[in-house]
Amino acid sequence: MMYKSTRDVNESVFFGADVIKQGIASDNGLFVPESFPSIDSEYIEALIPLNYAQRAAQILSLYLTDYKKEVLLRYCNEAYSENSFGKNAAPVRAIHDNIYSLELWHGPTCAFKDMALQIMPRLLSGAIEKTAEKKTALILVATSGDTGKAALEGYRDVEHTKIMVFYPANGVSDMQKLQMITQEGKNVNVCAIDGNFDDAQTGVKKIFADSAINKALSDSGYFLSSANSINWGRLAPQIVYYISAYCDLVNAKKIKNGEKINVCVPTGNFGNILAGFIAKKMGLPINRLVCASNSNNVLTDFLNTGCYDKNRSFKLTISPSMDILISSNLERLLYFVSDAETVSSYMKSLAECGKYTVNSDIKKTIDESFTGLYASEEETRSTIKNTFDNYKYLCDTHTAVAVSCAERYLKESNEYNMPMLVVSTASPYKFAADVYYSLTEKNIDNAQTALEELSSLSGTEIPTPLKDLEKRNVVFDGIINVGDMSKKVCEFAK
Ligand SMILES: *Cc1c(COP(=O)(O)O)cnc(C)c1O
Repeated sequence: MMYKSTRDVNESVFFGADVIKQGIASDNGLFVPESFPSIDSEYIEALIPLNYAQRAAQILSLYLTDYKKEVLLRYCNEAYSENSFGKNAAPVRAIHDNIYSLELWHGPTCAFKDMALQIMPRLLSGAIEKTAEKKTALILVATSGDTGKAALEGYRDVEHTKIMVFYPANGVSDMQKLQMITQEGKNVNVCAIDGNFDDAQTGVKKIFADSAINKALSDSGYFLSSANSINWGRLAPQIVYYISAYCDLVNAKKIKNGEKINVCVPTGNFGNILAGFIAKKMGLPINRLVCASNSNNVLTDFLNTGCYDKNRSFKLTISPSMDILISSNLERLLYFVSDAETVSSYMKSLAECGKYTVNSDIKKTIDESFTGLYASEEETRSTIKNTFDNYKYLCDTHTAVAVSCAERYLKESNEYNMPMLVVSTASPYKFAADVYYSLTEKNIDNAQTALEELSSLSGTEIPTPLKDLEKRNVVFDGIINVGDMSKKVCEFAK
């Protein structure tokens, strides 16, 4: 399998290892596979007896053909070990009737980013070895909360790598902040910036595109690489859990092999749902992909009107990992339904005017697979309460956005006979105070108290990685200006 850039009209091709090392193409486009390997019911049948790591190795080997299969299996066994994820890395649980939750938060940081970020450092290490690279990879991450911690955990003390994470000072939850500023590891750095997530992401993108900084880093023995969801090494492992969940539904006799399901994904940067789209393109029987947004509903408007317009006020919500106005991975979808020239013109327009409108053919093709819906803060809170009161299922604020949208979709489409798979992206304990407030209308200021209160109210256990965070040492404090990000990076690479 070879890869191309979404903006390259000449269609140069790259190997998987190079794509993972580089992160973003030199023309600022995103790497995409040249084609989609196809899977059918026989393929699904053969995956069913396998565990998650084995399924992952099989599926990844379709895309990373330049890696040895046994090497991929070793990476997957390490990444999705029982020690890191428990017995089942991505269990499917029934919420009610025909609605299921695909729980992607049983990893070390209790959020779905672990699904990709536990394996991605191994893929990068492998790429460095395969290409006889002498330099150290310097990973830069902009995070709205969960990516940062998950990347830090994934890369900590991994050979040939250093990692630096930027997060918006007032745009992450207390728990997320606490997790990051107490990060351990010899090769890690964490930095709060005076701005929002898009400022952080734009700052990181600028550093990647700055040839002077790249030259200086190269002279001191580093090359830049990204762990953000724009890296193909993040996206590929996310295709796995859609296919794995389908296997589980077949295995549990909830569907016959070949029957269609709907999928609803709480969406921010569009990485998770794009992986679902790729699974659908490969042949996984997915009927529709419901793109669930919070009140930063730029994607809902885009899917409804064909106009992507980020010129609007940025809202801080109780689902901060979805507080995003520029969904980077949408560029890949645009490429899959058009071509490099079209994508380049839209991205130019986005950079210059903050908006673009897709032509009617593209709009029509996207409509065939996607529905855009959003949930307000009120709807998100009441969904948490109703889902717990009625079905004893406790969901976090992000998952609740998706449950709310899934229920609305079912009401409007009347597709109650088709299973709806809601992608659950975080443990309720990661956003304990907001979940607790939704259930009780009581505020708790202290993050640790919120965990304990939520546990006794719900009768569920606090996940081990979130226990006793407050007792850990704060390693990284202080806030920097957005303009000082590149200086910070150069200092860290000394
Ligand atoms: C990152 C994240 C999302 C959004 O996923 P994208 O791939 O950016 O669309 C949703 N929920 C949680 C908890 C997240 O951490």
